[in-house]
Amino acid sequence: MKPFDIVIVGGGGAGLYAAMEAMKTNPALNIAVLSKVYPNRSHTSAAQGGANAALGNKAKDDTVEMHIFDTIKGSDYLADQDAVDVLCSEAPKIIRELENIGTPWSRMEDNTIAQRPFGGAGRPRCCYCADKTGHTILQTLYEQCLKKGVLFFNEYFALNLSLNGSRSRGLIAMNMKTGKVEAFTAKTVIFATGGYAKMYWNRSSNAAGNTGDGQAIAYRAGIPMKDMEFVQFHPTGLRKSGLLVTEGARGEGGYLVNKDGERFMSRYAPEKMELGPRDLVSRSIETEILQGRGFDSPAGKYVHLDLRHLGADLILSRLPQIREMSLNFEGVDPINEPIPVRPTAHYSMGGIDTDNFGRTVMDGVYAAGECACVSVHGANRLGGNSLLDILVFGRIAGHTAAEEAGKFQPGMIPESEVKECMDELRSKMQRSGHYERYGALREELGQTLAINVGIYRESSLLKKGIEDISELQERFTKVRVTDTSDVFNTNLMQVLELKNMLDLAETVAVGALAREESRGSHTRIDFPQRDDEAWHKHTLATLVDRKLIAGEKPVTMGRYELQERTY
Ligand SMILES: Cc1cc2nc3c(=O)[nH]c(=O)nc-3n(C[C@H](O)[C@H](O)[C@H](O)COP(=O)(O)OP(=O)(O)OC[C@H]3O[C@@H](n4cnc5c(N)ncnc54)[C@H](O)[C@@H]3O)c2cc1C
Repeated sequence: MKPFDIVIVGGGGAGLYAAMEAMKTNPALNIAVLSKVYPNRSHTSAAQGGANAALGNKAKDDTVEMHIFDTIKGSDYLADQDAVDVLCSEAPKIIRELENIGTPWSRMEDNTIAQRPFGGAGRPRCCYCADKTGHTILQTLYEQCLKKGVLFFNEYFALNLSLNGSRSRGLIAMNMKTGKVEAFTAKTVIFATGGYAKMYWNRSSNAAGNTGDGQAIAYRAGIPMKDMEFVQFHPTGLRKSGLLVTEGARGEGGYLVNKDGERFMSRYAPEKMELGPRDLVSRSIETEILQGRGFDSPAGKYVHLDLRHLGADLILSRLPQIREMSLNFEGVDPINEPIPVRPTAHYSMGGIDTDNFGRTVMDGVYAAGECACVSVHGANRLGGNSLLDILVFGRIAGHTAAEEAGKFQPGMIPESEVKECMDELRSKMQRSGHYERYGALREELGQTLAINVGIYRESSLLKKGIEDISELQERFTKVRVTDTSDVFNTNLMQVLELKNMLDLAETVAVGALAREESRGSHTRIDFPQRDDEAWHKHTLATLVDRKLIAGEKPVTMGRYELQERTY
């Protein structure tokens, strides 16, 4: 294969926007997108609620500046303010660009793009397509990429960056259909592999594939991870599966109710009520449950999300997917009954450290979307700001890589490296004697994270979590891939994903133990206050000689001074 100008790993919203923009920047470039699932099955397609932009359609007095302030406040002042400026200023343009290429936004009566209220936002500014926003955006982008001639390598599993000293010369990936390892020599590589919240197993709203592969590949290549301790728990996951009930359900007016029939958010966010930011609403639900005001069931404790007062018409027109999911996964029709919900691990604020142009510390390697940390979400992301992030920074990373690709002349990836990779995969199938199984390790990882590195954190719990992760890493060295076939070996892929999750879980737990304060989604029972003097900074985790080395980076401030965060 001749060398690529750009190889993009990931066919979600970030990867596809990057591909489309790179093609637009320079149509002569040779651009490939690799994805372990068909692009339109990426997790972006599960996004229900919408994307924020201060269009001022619903609230005429909404402004970009208000969006900027809400985002910085929502981040508990950990977001870099110059990056937030870019995110929010580009938002109206990107929503209209998507409209121009065919995204069917829901409309208001005057035919302008409809906007709904979302948590932590001062004005209704979330643009949506019913409750299938991500799905429609992804379809639109995929069509455009096909039309523009982007090459797709679907069902390819990225394994490693190929390094020449400290420089990247491209990517090594496995063709899932044949089990063969292949080299993708490339001048530039963009990681757009999505988040890592699936490491929380069935306490997660994420797709099965959100296992942080891109972050782990970059981490093993020596690229720093930033703010990994910040994992967002979404307040309303379905009780049994952790599947998401969009914030749009509360945006449309849904109530959260405890077993005493009380709208308990009046205790925690008297003004914003159910539309407080996610970290606060999740903690409130968890507190209600811990203090005995939740419902009990064999599938765990929960509270109610009540939509009945919204009426059948609204539920059927604006929240059809929520109704379907409640029926299918809980046996509950929200038109007639409240939905049982509990917080669920939902989003990774942390990720590959990048500048505002998507560049990492390694020449020719970029990252965008949920796998990157620019950082625009800081310690807590606002609902509707992630779709926006993947579009805005996906586009920027695609543009930057297209402009810079000409600067790099990577040597070809040597055949020996491909063979080494293949041998390593094979060795996992040929282990003899005592061996470990994927299933047990995977479940134990999820459990220790949910218990010890969950919503409420504390030194002894986090230490236990770190110990468990280290033990699981040790046991992983003896894992055996029991399926030895070449074609769609899902057991092998699960094992590879598990390795990635174990590497990243360590960075999450170690970061959480180090950060002795409470900020945004990171709540330490033993350090309940935000400590700006000691901790108003980003944490970095870099792998050096196979050891996690902790570092830090200042937060870029701007017009907004640190303030207490109340709602
Ligand atoms: C249920 C749910 C609802 C959400 N709702 C909203 C919402 O309403 N509004 C909002 O703003 N945000 C929402 N979010 C968050 C938002 O959808 C995600 O953060 C965003 O879509 C991530 O996009 P992405 O392009 O970065 O990654 P993804 O869409 O996750 O795509 C990742 C891509 O990487 C590929 N990939 C991963 N690993 C590999 C590998 N090893 N080799 C090859 N390819 C690989 C995958 O195949 C996939 O194509 C929601 C998230 C969830 C889980």
